Amino acid sequence: MNLLHWPVRMHIASVGVSKSCFVFSLVFCGLLLLFIPALQPAVRQVDLPQPRRQIRPTQAVSLHHNGVPGVPEHTGENEGKGASIDSEINRSYKQGVDPHRSQERGTFPGRQSGKLSASTSHDLLELKDIFIAVKTTRKYHKSRLELLIQTWVSQAKEQTFMFTDDEDNELRMRTGVNIINTNCSAAHTRQALCCKMSVEYDKFIESQKKWFCHVDDDNYVILPSLLRLLSSYHHSQDVYLGRPSLDHPIEAAERVKSDGSMSVQFWFATGGAGFCISRGLALKMSPWASLGNFISTAEKIRLPDDCTIGYIIEALLEVSLTHTRLFHSHLENLQKLPTDSVLEQVTLSYGGFENRRNIVGIVGGFSLAEDPTRFKTVHCLLYPDTDWCPKLKPRLKHTGPLQH
Ligand code: UDP
Ligand code: MN
Repeated sequence: MNLLHWPVRMHIASVGVSKSCFVFSLVFCGLLLLFIPALQPAVRQVDLPQPRRQIRPTQAVSLHHNGVPGVPEHTGENEGKGASIDSEINRSYKQGVDPHRSQERGTFPGRQSGKLSASTSHDLLELKDIFIAVKTTRKYHKSRLELLIQTWVSQAKEQTFMFTDDEDNELRMRTGVNIINTNCSAAHTRQALCCKMSVEYDKFIESQKKWFCHVDDDNYVILPSLLRLLSSYHHSQDVYLGRPSLDHPIEAAERVKSDGSMSVQFWFATGGAGFCISRGLALKMSPWASLGNFISTAEKIRLPDDCTIGYIIEALLEVSLTHTRLFHSHLENLQKLPTDSVLEQVTLSYGGFENRRNIVGIVGGFSLAEDPTRFKTVHCLLYPDTDWCPKLKPRLKHTGPLQH
C-alpha cells in the first residue's frame, strides 16, 4: 500500500462524492421547483378590475366642493312618496355605492358614431337612461316646438317630455312625442315657471331614469355630446352640471333654514342653457322639490325656477355646481363659438331676431332664410342620412372623352 498517496486518493474520492451530491441536489431542487405550482390548490381565475382612466370632461370645471350632509327629516307631508324616495336612497347604499361621494369622474370616451351609448368603467350609459324635460308654452308649440321635434327630439322621442300648459292632441298624434299638460298657468311668471319645474321633477322621479336634464324650447341638444358628458360621472353620485349666467354667486335671504335675517350665496345653472342632475342628487332634493314643495321653496326665496334648483342643491344640500361651458343660452354671443367646436357642445340656442341675430356661425346645406336658427344645419351635420337633409351633390362622372 502506498501510504504516501493515500490521503491524496482519499481527497480525490471525497471530491467525487461531494460532486455527485451537488449534481443530485441540483436535480432535486429543479424537480421541486417544477412541482411546487402543481402542489398548490387550484385558484379560480378572477378578472381584475382595470385601472380607471381619470380624465375630466374637456370644458367642465368644478370650482369648489363641499361635503354633503345627510337628507333632512321629512316633514310628514307627502309620506307615501317620501318613503319610496327614502328607500331608493337606501338601496343605492346597499348596492355599495355611496351617494354622498361627489363628482368622481370615470372615463370620457371619444365621440361615437352610430349607436348612442358610451361606456365607463361603472356601466354603460344609454340615451334611454336620460330624462330630457323641455319647458314650453302653448304659444310656442308651432314656432319653437315643431323645429325641435323635427330635429333633435326625433332622435330621442321616448325619453324627451315637453312640459306645457295646454292640451295639443293634434301635435301629439301627428308627431308621437310626449306632451305633458302641467295645468300650470301660461303666464311668464315665477310661479308659473316654478309650477312647470315642479312637475318636471316629479315626472323624472317617477321615470326611474338615471339623469334629469332640463332645457328650454329654444335649445338644440346634441345628444352624442350629452351622452358623452354624463358618461364621465355616475348617476348615484351628487352631480349638478350646467352653466352659470353670472360670473359670481347669487345672494338671497335665507328663509328656509332661518327667518330671512341671514343671507346665503350660491351658484345656479341658467335654465336657458339647460342643466343636468344625477338621480342620486335629485332624490336628496325631494324634501324641497317633490310634490309641490318646489313651489313653496321658490316662494320662500322669491327667485325663479333655475335659481331655486341652485339654492336647493348648493345652499341646502351643500353640493357644488359643476360649471361647464358645453351648455349655451342666447344670453351669450353664440357667434363667438368656434365653428369646428359647435358639434362638440351639449346644448345650443338662438335668439335676438328682433335686432341682432344671435346664432351659431355654422354653414351647411341651408341658407339663413331657410334655417334662421341654424338648428337644421346642425342636425344635418350630425345626422346626414335624415330624409329632409340636403344630399351631397354627386360628382359628375365623365363617361367619354371631354367635349370642348
Ligand atoms: N315660457 C313659458 N311660459 C311663458 C313664456 C315662456 O313656459 O309664458 C318658457 C319658454 O317656452 C321657454 C322658457 O320659458 O322654454 C324661456 O322663455 P323665452 O325663451 O321666451 O325667454 P328667455 O327667458 O329665454 O328670454
Ligand atoms: Mn330663451
